[in-house]
Amino acid sequence: MSDAKSTSSENSPAGSVPPRPLTGAMADEVERLLSGRTRDIRLKGELRGRFEERLWRQTSKVIRSWMIWVAFVDVLTLALNAILLPHEVVLSMIAPACLLPPAAILTAVVWSKPRPPVVQQASLLVGMFLILLSVALVGVFAGGEYYERHLSIMLFVATSAITIFSVPLALTIAIACYALCLYFILQWHNPLLEAGSVIAATLFFSCGIIATVVARRTMNILAQKTFLLDCRDQRRVAELADANARLERLARTDPLTGIANRRWMMETLEGLWRDGRETGVVAAMLMCDIDHFKALNDRLGHSEGDRCLVKVAGIIQSCVRADRDLVSRHGGEEFLIVLPDVDEEEAVAVAKRIRESVEAAALPNPASSVGPSVTLSVGVAFKSVLDKDVSLANLQHEADMALYRAKEAGRNQVSVFRRLSAAGQIAARRQG
Ligand code: GH3
Ligand code: MG
Ligand code: MG
Repeated sequence: MSDAKSTSSENSPAGSVPPRPLTGAMADEVERLLSGRTRDIRLKGELRGRFEERLWRQTSKVIRSWMIWVAFVDVLTLALNAILLPHEVVLSMIAPACLLPPAAILTAVVWSKPRPPVVQQASLLVGMFLILLSVALVGVFAGGEYYERHLSIMLFVATSAITIFSVPLALTIAIACYALCLYFILQWHNPLLEAGSVIAATLFFSCGIIATVVARRTMNILAQKTFLLDCRDQRRVAELADANARLERLARTDPLTGIANRRWMMETLEGLWRDGRETGVVAAMLMCDIDHFKALNDRLGHSEGDRCLVKVAGIIQSCVRADRDLVSRHGGEEFLIVLPDVDEEEAVAVAKRIRESVEAAALPNPASSVGPSVTLSVGVAFKSVLDKDVSLANLQHEADMALYRAKEAGRNQVSVFRRLSAAGQIAARRQG
């Protein structure tokens, strides 16, 4: 229960300390311990530190409540005794009884916040020694029937502490030994008891206390096992989340070029159109297609074609705004680019820049009729706030039409789709 470690758990609700991922070695140790016998579980090193860190808040709460409760019962008992017992008996009890509340409250104060383990453990031992001594001396000072009764109460107090304090076994054993020694020594001096009776009573109570210590040890081991199982669960949940994230990445990525795939682009665009239903989407769509790519494949081979696709994808990405624009491989040698919130002039400038950059890269395509290197045709369609009726499918169709025109016009060029005005549409229909 080191200082730093305990501070983080102090600020979180019990049992909900945000889990820190286990290192590989720690995960192996968790598996090793869980594969063995439960009674052989011994946490060590960092794993033990984390276990104690998790336990700290709960243990400190239990110890503080117990201390305050014992102090309260001590004062209450004294007050009741003052009413019910003879005056001189009560007077003899006051001095030893007054030892208990400060000892209990001081221990509670020490356990109110994380401190170095040595301080915590020493305070618990000293506190318990004084509390048990106080309970025992009340009987010794009162004498008579109170002598043995209070020594039994002292053992009861010790047993309850052993049962509920989730502390290292050495501390539990120290409290148990101290309580039994105190009982034996003081009973030995009890004028009302024979030596044999004292020994018999001490042996009897020893059996009870040893059973309690053994039970405490079992509870400690089970708490460690629960912790190990939690660690394993957390690790498995983290692995599952990782695998899901990987799958999701795979589902939206084109495996060859590493850019987004068509599915991701269409889902993203549907979202964009949904979000912009009220305000109206402003976007440009650029449909790019490598010219005579089949000829490149046929002449240089499929793997050279693949390398060309990867390079063109990189060039396209370097020509757009990384934080806003969307780029995907739409199919074979086609790339779809969406530029949100641009005007037509900017969109055409980006399209030209992409075309020029691909040409400037001089990737070989010796079989192309356009020239010796790889070229790109781009169809641009633009939607402003005023084009409310232009659906996603419309815009895509328009970009395709523009690309078709670029191909028709000789390839290696940018073509922009021009939407006709209402009057123009009527005239076109008449001509048609
Ligand atoms: P155009 O100038 O009219 O666009 O002609 P094109 O040859 O580029 O178009 P076409 O549709 O005839 O050919 C596209 C070729 O792209 C056909 C196909 O073999 C190739 N292709 C599709 N996907 C891949 C891929 O992943 N890797 C490689 N190397 N080639 C691919
Ligand atoms: Mg094509
Ligand atoms: Mg092509």
